[in-house]
Amino acid sequence: MAHSFPGRHVTAMPHEFDRLVCEVQKHLGFLKAAGCDGVYLSEKSIGIVASWEKTAPVEPDRSSPASLGDVFDEYRHCRRCGLADSGVGSVFGAGPESAPLMLIGYFPEPGDAAAKIPYSGEQGELLTRIIQAMALDRDSVYISHTVKCLPPKGLPPNKWEARACRHHLVRQIRAIKPSMICLLGESAAGVLLGGEVPFALRRGKFHDFEGIPVMPTHDLAYVLAHGSAKRPVWEDMQKIMKKLEEPA
Ligand code: SF4
Repeated sequence: MAHSFPGRHVTAMPHEFDRLVCEVQKHLGFLKAAGCDGVYLSEKSIGIVASWEKTAPVEPDRSSPASLGDVFDEYRHCRRCGLADSGVGSVFGAGPESAPLMLIGYFPEPGDAAAKIPYSGEQGELLTRIIQAMALDRDSVYISHTVKCLPPKGLPPNKWEARACRHHLVRQIRAIKPSMICLLGESAAGVLLGGEVPFALRRGKFHDFEGIPVMPTHDLAYVLAHGSAKRPVWEDMQKIMKKLEEPA
């Protein structure tokens, strides 16, 4: 099925849409670096570009179930967005394919790519303490990020990079089939759940992704910076523990 670009007689295969938008962004960055200080855009063009943001991300094909190894193979050759050329590295995720709980943050910490471990730094130490307080072992849960590659210069990924990488995340979730997902932060929640719902209305409540209960809680960087966030995070984790104990 082709995906139409609203207002243009241009079509692309669904999986190419986010990559094309990333390429447009990269090209504009190149023009800026080359000294170009403006690109003429008519009102109509601005409207067309704005309408792209409202298109829902294309869900990966469900017709051919993939193992975690298959998902990893596709990821390691991935060039779906410009972060493939960032040269800063990437982290796929860590944990058993049978993990009952997936914990998913937005994008890796700076040291994660070198360590090849998600949450290898200060946020990771906090995450390990939280997992242990839940009477779980870090090795028994699956930890990952919505965006696998690190952006350069410590910048966060942009929206289109996150949309492009959502493909791998959804396939990871389908391969692992966890009983529960915990999303660490507003950005991670926005990528997986979509929509424009304020985080204050999402956090602390169960949502649904393809039949799996999803609990969004605070970003660990936010928790490290704001001690008062520890309590609501712990309350969210207790809800997860309680639900994990419920009979299937
Ligand atoms: S961030 Fe994700 S989509 Fe972009 S190149 Fe890396 S693995 Fe591929």
